[in-house]
Order: sequence, then C-alpha cells, then structure tokens
Amino acid sequence: MLDNSTKMELSQLGEFGLIKHLTQFVEIKNESTVKGIGDDAAVLHYPADKRMVISTDMLVEGIHFDLSYVPLKHLGYKSVMVNLSDIYAMNARPRQITVSIAVSNRFSTDSLEELYNGITAACNKYGIDLIGGDTTSSRAGLIISITAIGEAAQEELVYRSGAKVNDLICVSGDLGGAYMGLQILEREKRVYLENPKLQPDLEGYDYILERQLMPEARKDIGDILRELNIKPNSMIDISDGLASEILHICDQSDCGCTIYEEKIPIDQQTFETARAFHLDPTVCALSGGEDYELLFTIPLTDHDKIKNNPDITVLGHITEKATGCMLVDKTGNRHNITAQGWDAFKK
Ligand code: ADP
Ligand code: MG
Repeated sequence: MLDNSTKMELSQLGEFGLIKHLTQFVEIKNESTVKGIGDDAAVLHYPADKRMVISTDMLVEGIHFDLSYVPLKHLGYKSVMVNLSDIYAMNARPRQITVSIAVSNRFSTDSLEELYNGITAACNKYGIDLIGGDTTSSRAGLIISITAIGEAAQEELVYRSGAKVNDLICVSGDLGGAYMGLQILEREKRVYLENPKLQPDLEGYDYILERQLMPEARKDIGDILRELNIKPNSMIDISDGLASEILHICDQSDCGCTIYEEKIPIDQQTFETARAFHLDPTVCALSGGEDYELLFTIPLTDHDKIKNNPDITVLGHITEKATGCMLVDKTGNRHNITAQGWDAFKK
C-alpha cells in the first residue's frame, strides 16, 4: 500500500502505478458491468429490451474551471455530475462512467488522489461504476474527459424534440445560484491577488457556493415523474442557462414558448447576492448556467399532478412556432428570449 502522507512525484509512480493507485478502491455495483478496469476494454451487458444512452463532456483547466479556488475533490465530484445530468435529461439511469485525464507534472499524486476522491464519492452516491479511462500527460493544464453510460426502456426515453403546443414548461429546483457562487469565488480571488494576507470572505454564501462547487444531478426528478405517472414530452438539463435551453427545446420541437419572469424560481441567497453585485437576478437565472436542473415539458392535462410539488415549478407553456420564444416580465411586457438571456438587457 502506498503511503498517503508523502508527496509522491508522478514520475516516481509511472502511468500504470498511478492508475492502480487512483482506482484501488473501485468496486463494481451494477449487474450490467461485466468487466471494469484492468483489461484492454470494459465489458457491459445490457438486456436486449433496453436502450443504452451515452454522453461525454470534456473539462479544460482555465476554460471550465480555475484551480486557484476550486478544490480538486469538488472538481472530481462536479465532473461526474455534469455527465450524469445529461443521462437524467434523457429520462435514463446512469450506470457506468469512464474517466480520462491529461495531467502536467506540476500535479502531485496526492492532488490526483483528491480528484479521484471526489469522483469516487459521486460514483458511490449515485450507484455508478467507474469502468475505465485513459491517463496521459499534458504540457499545460489539467484536462478531464468523462463518458457516462446509462439505460432506459425505449418508451421511457425523452428527447429535446418532443414538446407539443400547450405543454406546460417545468423546471426543477431553482436557478442562477451556481452563477452567483462563481461571482463570489472570482471576487475573493481578485481580493487575494491584490492582498494575499486577506482571508477569503465566504461567510453567508454557503448555498450558492455549493451550487457552484458541488452541484447534484437531479436523479430524483425522473423517479418523481414516474411515480406521478407523468412522461415528459421533452427534456434538457440546464448547463448553459434557462434561456439557451428553452431555445434548444423550441428549435428542435419546432415550436415557440411563453415563460413568465415572476415564475422563475430563484433562491433568496441568489437574489440578494445578485442585487449586491448590481445584477438582475432574472438575467442570472436565464444566462448564468451550470445549475444542472432539469427543464421539461408535460401535457397540460398533467397540471394537477405537479401543481403542489415543491421540487417542480411551472414557468409557462409551449406555443405555435409563429408566436416566437417570449418572456413576459413582471410588468406584463413581452420580450424575445435570446441565448444571452433577454434582449432588454443587451442594450
Ligand atoms: P491501454 O494501454 O490498453 O490503453 P491503459 O494502461 O491505459 O490501457 O489502462 C489500463 C486500464 O486502466 C484500463 O482498464 C483503463 O480503462 C484503465 N484506466 C486508465 N486510465 C484510467 C483513469 N484515468 N481512470 C480510470 N481508469 C483508467
Ligand atoms: Mg490507455
């Protein structure tokens, strides 16, 4: 067993030693995983009546994350969540992931162990098997690429393209929090760069910091909807912001939409922090991104089944394409929704 207390150089361990070290505690939990890490390829067995769902995301240091304020353990956890969220957005259940990393020699074995602690914690919490990956070196920053594999019965799958006129547009949880968490972290980084003696002031921002650093994929929404006997007509996860995602649904479903500003769920901490930064909380929800909530449309006839559900908010409805994609603000004025959020704020 390797001694964790020493700061081991990557070059001492070598590629195979490193893989072994990082994956030593991986246990297989799913029936569909026949062979995990250790051979030339993993082997999966999915029953013939199931559909396999696969999604990949790549995260690049300096583009998608900043290691000056993101702990590696959180980064590992979030990298997995980003991928699981895509599988849940198909109304499928994730079962396996592969993890590929490119690392520069400025990383120690300990720091990669932290990354894998986060990845393993996410796998354990969501019942996912880590079944393989690839390890290589990088001249600059850290790159993480994760592929998630899941399953669904064919009739369970939900695409972006299925929204119907008069569908209710629903969203889980609340929006804009991850973006405001990022604003706090970036502010404290600027303060630190100006005066490294100052301690970061993160007090009172726990909810939005958690939304940014350790988001949870909405595993529960699919279960809630099945229990209520609702099958969404369309669904997408919110990685780029509500505006961009609703436009994807409307574009692929060939329809329009009307959503109401007053309905957009925004947490109090998000709201107050946005105000303190002189930002419009609605714009943060529309364009902030990284919330990893689910946006979906359901038949109007299912309204009674969800209207009292605290995890789900109805934002508006699907319209004919000719009506356009509209946001009705709190004073009743109508605005075109754009991928950047809302045209009224682009002036
Ligand atoms: P190959 O030379 O066939 O690509 P590797 O030596 O890269 O094999 O990998 C050996 C085993 O370790 C494989 O099962 C592979 O999937 C797994 N593996 C490699 N890198 C990682 C990683 N970063 N995380 C998890 N598993 C990994
Ligand atoms: Mg390899």
